Amino acid sequence: MAMVGSSIEQQPQIILLKEGTDTSQGKAHVVSNINACTAVADAVRTTLGPRGMDKLIHDDKGNTTISNDGATIMKLLDIVHPAAKILVDIAKSQDSEVGDGTTTVMLLAGEFLKFEKIFIEDGVHPQNLIRSYRTACYLAIEKIKEIAVSIEGKSMEEKKSLLAKCAATTLSSKLIGGEKEFFASMVVDAVMAIGDDDRLNLIGIKKVPGGNMRDSFLVNGVAFKKTFSYAGFEQQPKKFLNPKILLLNIELELKSEKENAEIRLSDPMQYQSIVDAEWNIIYDKLDKCVKSGAKIVLSRLPIGDLGTQYFADRDVFCAGRVAEEDLRRVAAATGGTVQTSVNNFVDEVLGSCEVFEEKQVGNERFNIFSGCPSGQTATIVLRGGADQFIEEAERSLHDAIMIVRRALKNSTVVPGGGAIDMEISRFLRTHARSIAGKSQLFINSYAKALEIIPRQLCDNAGFDATDVLNKLRQKHALGTGANYGVDINTGGVADSYTNFVWEPAVVKINAINAATEAACLVLSVDETVKNPKSESAQGEAAASAMAGHGGAAFRGRGGRGMRR
Ligand code: ADP
Ligand code: MG
Repeated sequence: MAMVGSSIEQQPQIILLKEGTDTSQGKAHVVSNINACTAVADAVRTTLGPRGMDKLIHDDKGNTTISNDGATIMKLLDIVHPAAKILVDIAKSQDSEVGDGTTTVMLLAGEFLKFEKIFIEDGVHPQNLIRSYRTACYLAIEKIKEIAVSIEGKSMEEKKSLLAKCAATTLSSKLIGGEKEFFASMVVDAVMAIGDDDRLNLIGIKKVPGGNMRDSFLVNGVAFKKTFSYAGFEQQPKKFLNPKILLLNIELELKSEKENAEIRLSDPMQYQSIVDAEWNIIYDKLDKCVKSGAKIVLSRLPIGDLGTQYFADRDVFCAGRVAEEDLRRVAAATGGTVQTSVNNFVDEVLGSCEVFEEKQVGNERFNIFSGCPSGQTATIVLRGGADQFIEEAERSLHDAIMIVRRALKNSTVVPGGGAIDMEISRFLRTHARSIAGKSQLFINSYAKALEIIPRQLCDNAGFDATDVLNKLRQKHALGTGANYGVDINTGGVADSYTNFVWEPAVVKINAINAATEAACLVLSVDETVKNPKSESAQGEAAASAMAGHGGAAFRGRGGRGMRR
C-alpha cells in the first residue's frame, strides 16, 4: 500500500510494501480473528455428544456426506479464513493423533477465545492472557493424569469389557449409536486380533450396501470383494481347508494380443514359432504356479481366460486384479510374500490359512481368508442402507478403533459426559483463588470455558443446561461427586463411571492441549499482511468479508501504521 505522509509537514513518502498489499493490525484485528474462529466452532457445536445432530454437506459435483465427525466436517467445509484455519488444523491433528474428540477440541478452542475476547476488548495485553492460559492448561493436564484410572493389570476378559465401554462411548454420538454394543465388541475383537502392531491398515473395513446393520460381521483374517473373473471361473472350487496361497505381482495373460508388438518376418513359416513361443511362456508360468502346491493363486495383475481355465482344470482357485492393499493384507495375514517372478516358488513364500471361502454377502461375492496363522489382520464387513449411511458408519468405526487402540496403549480412562471437564473446572477455580493479581481472573475464565462440554451436551439433548450445570457444580464442590456428569437418558446428573461413559485420558489431554495452543496462537497474531500476489488472496478477502468484522472493514481507512 502506498503510504502518504502528513500533508502539512510535507514529510517524504515512505513506500514499504507493494501496491495492493493489504494489512490489518491491532486489537480490532485480534478480535476479528477471534470472531472468525468462534464462527467455525459454532458450525460444529450441535454435533457434540450422543444427542448431537449430524451435518449434511454436498458439493457442486453432487457428492453428499452426512457426518458427525468434527474433522470430516472441517475437511469438507473448505474454510479459507487464515485464522479460522487454525481451528481446522487442530481438529485434523486431533483426528490423526487420537482419532476422537474432534468436536470437543474445536468447541474448547472456540470457548477459550470467546472468554479471551472479553479481556482483549477491555485492554488486557494478549501476552498476559497467553501466559495464564498456558499455566491453566498445564495444571489441567496434571489433574487429568491424577484422576485417570488405569486398566492395566486386569484380566483379558475384564480388559475387553472395559475397552468395549470406551468404544461404546465413542459410538454413542454417531449414527450407528443405536447398535453401539454390537459394534463396540466387534471393534474390540478386531483391535485385539491385530495385537501390538501399529499399522492401522491391518484392520480392513469393507462396505456392502444393503441389508441390516446387524448383518455386519467380523472376519478374523482378510476379506475382499471378488475380483473380475474370466470364463472358467465357475468351475474352480470355492472352498478350501488349509490351502497354500500363492501371491503374485505377475500378469498371467497372453501378451501379444494387447501389447501391439510389431514383429517383422521374412518367412511366413516362422510365424507359427513365434505364436508357439508366446504360448510356451505362459504355459510355463501357469505350470510353475500349479507345481508350487498352492491351491489359491492371487495376483495384483490380470489373470486371463487361459489362466483361469488352466487353474480350473487343476482344481486351483485364482483371482486377478486384487487391489494392492488387499494383497498386502493377505500377505501379512497368511505369512506369504508377494512374488514378482515365477522362478522362486519355494514353500517359504507361500501363505496359508485355515479356511478359504468365497461367500455371498448381500449382492456381492466375497473372498474370505479366515484362521490366518499370523493372525494380524481383521476385516469388518459393514452392511446397511444408503451409501452415505455406510460411509458415516465406517468413519465412526474408525474413531472407535482408534479409541480402543489408544486406550489399550495408554491404558487410562477418565469419566466422560462432561464429568472430567467439570472436575478440572472446579479444581482450577479453587486454584485461582490462591493467586493474587490479574491471573486469577484469567484462570477463572479458563475454568469457566471448560464447562462448555457439559453445557453443550445438555443443549444438544434439549435439557435445561443451567439447571444441570448447577447440579453438577454442587456435586463436584462437595468433593464426593468428582465423577458426576450429564446423564443423557434422564436429563439429570449421574456418575459417569458407574454409567460406563468412559473416555481414554489421552483424548482429553490432547484436546485440552491443542485447544489451548490454538487459542494462544490466535491471540499472538496481531497483524495479517496480504500479499497481492498470493494465490489465496481472493479467498481470504472473501473470508474476512464473511467474518463480518474482518480486515475488509479496515481497508477503507488506509494509511495506518506505516508512517514513521
Ligand atoms: P467428539 O468429536 O469430540 O468425540 P462426540 O460427538 O463424539 O464429539 O461427543 C463426545 C462427548 O460426548 C464426550 O464428551 C463424551 O463424554 C460425551 N458422551 C458420549 N457418550 C455419552 C453418554 N452416553 N452420556 C453422556 N455423555 C456422553
Ligand atoms: Mg466422539
